[in-house]
Amino acid sequence: MPTFDFDLFVIGGGSGGVRAARMAAQHGARVGLAEAAELGGTCVNVGCIPKKLYSYAAGYAESFEESAGYGWKLPEAPQFDWAYLKTQRAKEISRLNGVYASLLMNSGVTLVTGWAQLVDGHTIEVDGKRHTARHLLVATGGTPYVPEMPGREHIVTSDAMFDLAPFPKRLLVVGGGYIACEFASIFNGLGAKVTQLHRRAHLLTGFDDDVRQFVANEMGKAGIEVRLNVEVASIARGSHGLVVTLARGQQVEADTVLFATGRVPNTQGLGLEAAGVALDERGAIAVDAHYRSSVPSIYAVGDVSTRVQLTPVALAEAMVVVDALFGKGKRALDYEYIPTAVFTHPNIGTCGYTELDARARFGEVAVFSTEFKSLRHTLSGRGERTFMKLVVHKATDRVVGLHMVGADAGEIVQGFAVAMRAGATKALFDSTVGIHPTAAEEFVTMREPMPG
Ligand code: NDP
Repeated sequence: MPTFDFDLFVIGGGSGGVRAARMAAQHGARVGLAEAAELGGTCVNVGCIPKKLYSYAAGYAESFEESAGYGWKLPEAPQFDWAYLKTQRAKEISRLNGVYASLLMNSGVTLVTGWAQLVDGHTIEVDGKRHTARHLLVATGGTPYVPEMPGREHIVTSDAMFDLAPFPKRLLVVGGGYIACEFASIFNGLGAKVTQLHRRAHLLTGFDDDVRQFVANEMGKAGIEVRLNVEVASIARGSHGLVVTLARGQQVEADTVLFATGRVPNTQGLGLEAAGVALDERGAIAVDAHYRSSVPSIYAVGDVSTRVQLTPVALAEAMVVVDALFGKGKRALDYEYIPTAVFTHPNIGTCGYTELDARARFGEVAVFSTEFKSLRHTLSGRGERTFMKLVVHKATDRVVGLHMVGADAGEIVQGFAVAMRAGATKALFDSTVGIHPTAAEEFVTMREPMPG
């Protein structure tokens, strides 16, 4: 039996890597983890957490405005201090970096600071020092992708958005996915003049078509100029800011241009080739249903193997690996009915199939939907509306799609996701008593299917 320094060595201290390291150590494994940057990965440092904090910051602008309808008289117009928000965010993120370090240390994980490279299926090297392990886990995440184009050097990606200086008065966002829509909403709320350009006829490819149209309309009402079917040809620095030239020749000026055009797996410089780890056609580490790569001792979870790029999915994948290697044994993760939210203003929350996908997968479906002004906005004066939709498989009555655009949609959909995974039928939704007065109660009071 060969002897190894560690039972498991993890490359990457983001959501998936830290979870795997910590839980493996709690099972008694000897675990090492290498990270070259701050602990916490994308989610903690330049993703979910700072994004959500800034989304809250943006939400206050709406609340100040709305409060007048409820009798609040603000002595003067509220002023927003971007530098202060950045400082507060940085403090919180560094507190979280510390929490991650303590979690690892308290579980007995050996933290190795530096860039790790695979040497072979059981050996990694960090700053010239070699470590061996029975199992290796690559959890190095992803990084923003920016298409090649003239003037590409002038743009920023989501990584830079949290620390922009100065605050961009005019922000141009390119892309129509999660990150583009969220930053467009955030900076619009914080006071920037935001233009969002997307190459397709609708934002948010992959979401339910009604949701896509509804949210674009709400984002427009909130002040974002959403321009669809538009492609960028080049970017140049002009005398009054950046000049973005579109494929059809028009020009748009902005102080900051954000490209949120997708993310690619972080596979460069890891020695994957040397170790014989195969990549798939998208450049992600190819893994089987148990996250094992082409080298049996090397596993990969999270964005570097890109099944679904969501923090909770990386955590769940990490747990599957730990259970297989050190815990209860082999099992596979169920990727059906993973709920997700987009923190636009208003939020999108969704679980299960879009209407289109449900028709393709299940055949006959019944669709229930509603659109209304929430009680809050009767006095707030805001014209924001809420949209909800259920897609029901006719043959079984199972609710296979649940979609919402509205305040707190992310919070609301989480609970419904449990019911949907349990196979809840429309009849069960109907027999559930609503909580009044809430927006969420509409999910259990929709009675009439849409015609067709
Ligand atoms: P997405 O894949 O969601 O969106 C990428 C967008 O860029 C799409 O609109 C895509 O258009 C467009 N695009 C791609 N290539 C080009 C190009 N060459 N020119 C113009 N537009 C282009 O990626 P994001 O970067 O927004 O986010 C990455 C992932 O991170 C998400 O898919 C999600 O899984 C995760 N995430 C989750 C969040 C959450 O849970 N709230 C928040 C942020 C990210 P098209 O539609 O045509 O493909």
